[in-house]
Amino acid sequence: MAKHETPLLDQLESGPWPSFVSDLKQQAEVRAKNEAGVEFQIPQDAVEDLLGVLELSFKHGRTHWKHGGIVGVFGYGGGVIGRYCDQPKLFPGVEHFHTMRVAQPCGKYYKTSYLRELTKLWDFRGSGVTNMHGATGDIIFLGTTTPQLEEIFYTLTHDLNQDLGGSGSNLRTPADCLGSSRCQYACYDSNALCHFLTNEYQDELHRPAFPYKFKFKMDACPNGCVASIARSDMSFIGTWRDAIKVDQDAVNKYVENDPGYPANAGAHKGKDWGPFDIEKEVLALCPTKCMKFENKTLSIDNANCTRCMHCINTMPRALRIGDDRGCSILVGAKAPILDGAQMGSLLVPFVEVNPENDYEAITEVIESIWDWWMEEGKNRERLGELIMRQGFQKLLEVTGIDPQPQHVAYPRTNPYIFWKEDEVDGGWERDVVEYRKHHLR
Ligand code: SF4
Ligand code: SF4
Repeated sequence: MAKHETPLLDQLESGPWPSFVSDLKQQAEVRAKNEAGVEFQIPQDAVEDLLGVLELSFKHGRTHWKHGGIVGVFGYGGGVIGRYCDQPKLFPGVEHFHTMRVAQPCGKYYKTSYLRELTKLWDFRGSGVTNMHGATGDIIFLGTTTPQLEEIFYTLTHDLNQDLGGSGSNLRTPADCLGSSRCQYACYDSNALCHFLTNEYQDELHRPAFPYKFKFKMDACPNGCVASIARSDMSFIGTWRDAIKVDQDAVNKYVENDPGYPANAGAHKGKDWGPFDIEKEVLALCPTKCMKFENKTLSIDNANCTRCMHCINTMPRALRIGDDRGCSILVGAKAPILDGAQMGSLLVPFVEVNPENDYEAITEVIESIWDWWMEEGKNRERLGELIMRQGFQKLLEVTGIDPQPQHVAYPRTNPYIFWKEDEVDGGWERDVVEYRKHHLR
């Protein structure tokens, strides 16, 4: 029988969708039976108490987790998030219920044996409840006590060769899509870049020195499978500079509805999409209308193509990304904090992604931005908010990037232009002197 009555939580089990309440109940039962004979290092009924405290929070309409004290492991300033219950007498199993962030492997590739080792450790020293994966991408261990933290950290780092992720005002665990390890659309190796930046910026990941959190995410093409444009302070989106590669024979196979060339890359196998219509499904949906199909020939005005991927996704056997590949860097996305949600703004339209020189062109941009943000950012001010406060022009100045048409979000509405003295090369002073000479005698 359940330790706590949970009528409010029970409602969350109704409906056709999976329920975290059912999962927690299942886990509570597994721990109560303990058929595996685990020597639990935190209270055996921790998950039952977790359900109990959640029910109480629903009843009272407020949380019963208090923000209490800093917890962590030796030498690290992040990776552990302290959680304490404000009702320890009622729910002793969750008196401490800290969260640990475990850095996810690049592309989220892992072996089942690795997962077994992780869950074995967590059943033994924690609640056994995990979140695969948290918003930053980490493997999240939910619920342990303070004395277990160092023990878990030791096993992770020494036995599993596994690091903690980031939390607090530091670099969060970088996250990436599968990239060229599995995907034909990849314009660069996102796994390699993610791995490199994770190693290169270990200090920033583990020792909080920033005004607030900072996230890197890598999408190896504009399809954006990790939604880096919306979810990271700095997003690296694969792109190409030359022309989309067109196989005209294959285009015509699509147009002729050849069964070997299913539209939409054969998505939703078995669904009848009806006859393929290149005008309606590709040309009309190109956001810049830069494509034409005449006399059985598809032509693309590549200078006006925004690399949105739509045509390539629709006819993947006929169209391919170009050969001159790299990435665009966007900055300043964030979830709503002060001024609503914000997407990233394009800072570097194209940069090479070159592991041979340690991604120099990318790290230069990162470090110039960090220098500025660490100097000027207010406490708990995300990069996007600093850009809004001081202006995109300031960002261009600190990164040494020349203004380009791609930086313009929309045509100006203000007729006044603010010139800086050095921007006009002393010319205006000369003009004033000349004017005075001739007109103000
Ligand atoms: Fe493939 Fe692009 Fe998705 Fe990465 S973002 S997995 S390259 S489709
Ligand atoms: Fe048009 Fe997008 Fe295809 Fe470029 S990638 S040609 S913008 S549909």
